[in-house]
Amino acid sequence: MSTRGKPRILLMHYILDPGPAILAEAGEVVPYPPDRPLDEASIRQAAEGCTGIVSQLMDPIRETVLSTPGLKIVSNVAVGFDNIDVAAATANKVMVTNTPGVLDDATADFAFTLLMTTARRVVEADAFTRSGQFRGWEIDMMLGADVFGATLGLIGVGRIGRGVAHRAKGFNMRVLYYDPNPLPPDAEQQLGATRVDLGRLLAESDFVSVHVPLTQETHHLLSTPQYGQMKKTAILINTSRGPVVDEAALVEALNAKKIAGAGLDVYEREPAVHPGLVVLPNVVLAPHIASATTRTRSEMSAMAARNMATAVRGGRPPNLVNPEVKR
Ligand code: NAD
Repeated sequence: MSTRGKPRILLMHYILDPGPAILAEAGEVVPYPPDRPLDEASIRQAAEGCTGIVSQLMDPIRETVLSTPGLKIVSNVAVGFDNIDVAAATANKVMVTNTPGVLDDATADFAFTLLMTTARRVVEADAFTRSGQFRGWEIDMMLGADVFGATLGLIGVGRIGRGVAHRAKGFNMRVLYYDPNPLPPDAEQQLGATRVDLGRLLAESDFVSVHVPLTQETHHLLSTPQYGQMKKTAILINTSRGPVVDEAALVEALNAKKIAGAGLDVYEREPAVHPGLVVLPNVVLAPHIASATTRTRSEMSAMAARNMATAVRGGRPPNLVNPEVKR
């Protein structure tokens, strides 16, 4: 609490309207000093005296931060919360919230964008055309992979994976999925999706798209053995979290032509991108923008601010990741 009695809310990075107004109504907003590094000790120092922290995915919110006296809530402006040690939050009775649902369509759209762009070599083609190399139609110029009617393998069919399956229907794709939690039979039927084990998914898919959260189990879920199981013509799409994909092994697999290409939005050590990826023409690279539409980022900001406002007023925020803290 601040001296004026209003709860102090540490805002790690600015958010979009209407988020700031919702926060200002709920408490005294303290912006994180922009010149300060994003390490745990610095965040802990800034969080002293704060009831809540509005964090983003680049903020390491772990024990050092979560043990700050008086801290009640960390509201992450993202659906993923792998930047937060949820077990430590629960042990310290700190609520953790995220922003599920509002970014499903934007993210699924972008996974499909990467799929299409990589399959049809759009980035290469654009560079080729801009640089004046287009001298006329040629029968074998920029040949790519078919999308319509191809087989799509989805690793993880939660909210976003299902959204991608939905889009794939319009492209008459055969959809396979791998997920420990099976879809209800009616959803499987509606999406035309078949549950298979990971080996079969990798062996049969023309496109493999990853939609799992980053956890200990999903870290490097795709590495050398998995790339070896994929078709030589297959394309990997990752819009989940970078460390789900072993990036060094991916570079090796692409160079060895074990797979045909990759469309990536996320990286193992963001914002660094493996130098081996940058030089490959059959790879499309985006700077973690899958949810970046004006409407979606605004809704994420509003949702995170509402989660914070509810919690600092003593309520139970709607998007609680660790409900055991507030029953
Ligand atoms: P979700 O919780 O609705 O779905 C995740 C699915 O993954 C679940 O069905 C779960 O059962 C499954 N899963 C968990 N472990 C698995 C494993 N080992 N193998 C296979 N499946 C497994 O989550 P969501 O809202 O669909 O989001 C998925 C992830 O996408 C988020 O956690 C986030 O990290 C990422 N994401 C990235 C961006 C971006 O900007 N690139 C945007 C939104 C979400």
